[in-house]
Amino acid sequence: MSKEAVLHRLRRAMGRRGLDALLVSQPENRRYLSGFTAHDMSLAESSGCLLLPRKGTPLLLTDSRYQLQAEREAAGFEVVLYPAGLHARLSSLLKRLAIRRLGFEARAMLYASGVKLDKLCRAAGGEAVPLLEFIEKERLCKTADEIDLIRRSVALNERVFQEVFATLRPGMSEREVSRRIEFAMLEHGASGPSFETIVAAGPNGALPHAVPGERPIGEGEPVIIDMGCKLDGYCSDMTRTVCLGRPDEKLLFLHRLVRRAQKAGLERVRAGVTGREVDRAARQVIAAAGYGKNFGHGLGHGVGLAVHEAPGLNRRNRRKLQAGMVVTVEPGVYLPDWGGIRLENMVVVTDDGCEILNQDTTMLDL
Ligand code: ZN
Ligand code: ZN
Repeated sequence: MSKEAVLHRLRRAMGRRGLDALLVSQPENRRYLSGFTAHDMSLAESSGCLLLPRKGTPLLLTDSRYQLQAEREAAGFEVVLYPAGLHARLSSLLKRLAIRRLGFEARAMLYASGVKLDKLCRAAGGEAVPLLEFIEKERLCKTADEIDLIRRSVALNERVFQEVFATLRPGMSEREVSRRIEFAMLEHGASGPSFETIVAAGPNGALPHAVPGERPIGEGEPVIIDMGCKLDGYCSDMTRTVCLGRPDEKLLFLHRLVRRAQKAGLERVRAGVTGREVDRAARQVIAAAGYGKNFGHGLGHGVGLAVHEAPGLNRRNRRKLQAGMVVTVEPGVYLPDWGGIRLENMVVVTDDGCEILNQDTTMLDL
């Protein structure tokens, strides 16, 4: 769908909610709607936000540091600066554009800013209306162009993984491996990792979100490498569990178990099936082998401009998948004191199943 079509749909949705305008502060939503690629230092230090009135030209509010970039990137948006701060500018804009009910993204704003916004809307005789996933809904199904960008991000990520994997030797530290990975991402043209690279060897692998440390990687132990990059704004996310040297029987058994669970999940993915049904298909395999308690997290998540976005493949999601959604399928088994196994691929949901975006098969079928 084109940007214009998305704006049109959003405006209709605003009409249904009785909103006169929308304030967009969530960085990926801001980029999705306007093309403005700037990053935020933090929630307290934003590079700007969009003000989308139900009728008329949409505005991009920012400060002078981003003016040129905003004008270059945000076609169709009027760039408005706020030298005296966002709230001062907003208060004059609400009057000028006769905005009474202003929707804002409750999940992408500091409480303190929300309170200020509420005050200034009231002062203008209106109100600030908190919204949840109002714009995220538009990002759920990817266009062919977006899928192409994701495909390129996945390909770059795999190339980096394979290059670095070929250089791994026992005795290297987890941190060294993660440094090599992130350096290679930049070398190959990614703007950076899409999240902090996880390299977790031996017992550290029992923590699904372990932070790489100085401990040397031993021979024969499981090593979880979970990595992703950002290319042209779009994320990739992949996990392999590898082993330097000969894997023992326990590692082989658990690795094959997780792989079977992953295949069961992949086979269940298709438009019309709920996130929870896909999760269950994979979870059953692990539970049947007696490791249900060792698989605590959800099976997968959406990936796009954000590395973690809707839809979730987990026990809570009763919504049906739709063609064009991009999700990960990443079962895992984690044993305290021993380590973990996780395998993660990305797929595009289709009407009759899914297309696996990954080509890499490194130690996937042991
Ligand atoms: Zn991952
Ligand atoms: Zn993931």
